[in-house]
Amino acid sequence: MTTTTAADSLNVAVIGAGICGLLAARELLRENHRVTVFEKSDRLGGTWVYDPRTEADDGLGLDPDRSVVHSSLYSSLRTNLPRPLMGFSDYSLEHKSYGDPRMFPGHDEVRKFLEDFAEEFGVVEVVRFNSEVIGVEIRDGEFVVEVGGGTVATAEEVFDAVVVCNGHHTEPRVANDIPGMDEWSRKQVHSHNYRVPEPYRDQVVVVIGNGPSALDISREIATVAKEVHLSSRSSNVKVSRSDVYENMWQHSKIDRVFGDGRVVFGEGQSIEADIILHCTGYKIHFPFLRKIGDVHVDDNRVGPLYKHVFPPQLAPRLAFVGLVFNQGVLFRTFELQAKWIALALSGKISLPSQDEMLIDVRKHYQEMDEKGIPKRFSHSLNFQFEYVDWLAAQVGCKVDDRLKHICKTAYEHFIAQPNGSRDAFRRMDSELTDSEVAQYKQQ
Ligand code: FAD
Repeated sequence: MTTTTAADSLNVAVIGAGICGLLAARELLRENHRVTVFEKSDRLGGTWVYDPRTEADDGLGLDPDRSVVHSSLYSSLRTNLPRPLMGFSDYSLEHKSYGDPRMFPGHDEVRKFLEDFAEEFGVVEVVRFNSEVIGVEIRDGEFVVEVGGGTVATAEEVFDAVVVCNGHHTEPRVANDIPGMDEWSRKQVHSHNYRVPEPYRDQVVVVIGNGPSALDISREIATVAKEVHLSSRSSNVKVSRSDVYENMWQHSKIDRVFGDGRVVFGEGQSIEADIILHCTGYKIHFPFLRKIGDVHVDDNRVGPLYKHVFPPQLAPRLAFVGLVFNQGVLFRTFELQAKWIALALSGKISLPSQDEMLIDVRKHYQEMDEKGIPKRFSHSLNFQFEYVDWLAAQVGCKVDDRLKHICKTAYEHFIAQPNGSRDAFRRMDSELTDSEVAQYKQQ
């Protein structure tokens, strides 16, 4: 791979027109690169385009030839972050309203916001809809991108660089390491296929997980189901009956399941269930990456990647946006990743040498190993701002302390009231005293 110089205007392929693809395209256009965004569907917004369809195998993702539904949104989904955190540095959802003024709006508000964003910055014009990237490989130092899908005849196109933004909430991860799971003959569903509570009416449902989807979905199902049993492998959960729903219980990890529907939890309780609903997350999946240096995925670790973005061997010509998670200012983080890539491709920012980047990656893995952190958390930001501040410094800007404060108070709100509703979250920056803001800045 050749390096870039400040004078280069590169021909760049962006894969996917979700938030990350739209941001990448905007930043690349600002740097005068020639951009094509390939989007396999006929709309932009990715995850935020609600799709009432479900997949044939209950969303378990077992059949590789199934017809894949991209979005995992459920009908009632509201953002799990307050509005100010769901925007970009110069384009904010906080000051917009598309008919849902709530602090944690419904999903359609975000989709409309993204459509306006793409219109405002001229990104729509460079999106090629119904164009699925089937293959990406390097031939003679160039990226050959194979595109097909929908009504588009399969064809190859050559690019100087590729930015991968295909999203990571489509390919389900299922908790199949539970003892007895191979005997389980009753229904199992992954939250990827959950849309509305009605199919769970009068059922005894075990929900596995403790992320936002598990919590939202279990509460929603509790309004129609006979019983809901929420099971988490986290050691922090309190085994108890819900204060709000008398047909809902929190359990520890599942110890074992049986073919006759029995489910035994770690604390010793046993129940008979009709359905197991896996809210156990997703697998990172790049079905289109072929001969692409040493990039590979191992238990949701995409590696080797320098700072979750650049494979050292191919940087900056190949880059990934949106792999990081567990952070409250994700939209801003994606935006900064996009800026970093665009500036690196313009030659305005220099990256460390290949060896230096690899050393940094190995150091990250070693630190994880020493702390006993599983590989699948390689891209977790642990709800810290260190990474986003580092990125901001790379591109010469700063992330507002106000956003960090809102993030922190939202997090505290949900920790303090695990059953608390989003609407109970009131404490915003406008309510802070100057001394509280100063105190926060010192932390
Ligand atoms: P996506 O939004 O998934 O977009 C990827 C795009 O790539 C899609 O349009 C897809 O069609 C396209 N694509 C995929 N493969 C190809 C291909 N081969 N060729 C061409 N196009 C392709 N984040 C928050 O910050 N706040 C929240 O409240 C929040 N709630 C969430 C709730 C749920 C249920 C889920 C699943 C996620 C939530 N997230 C939330 C995280 C969310 O995924 C991100 O906010 C964001 O949507 C990720 O954007 P993305 O661009 O990486 O991926």
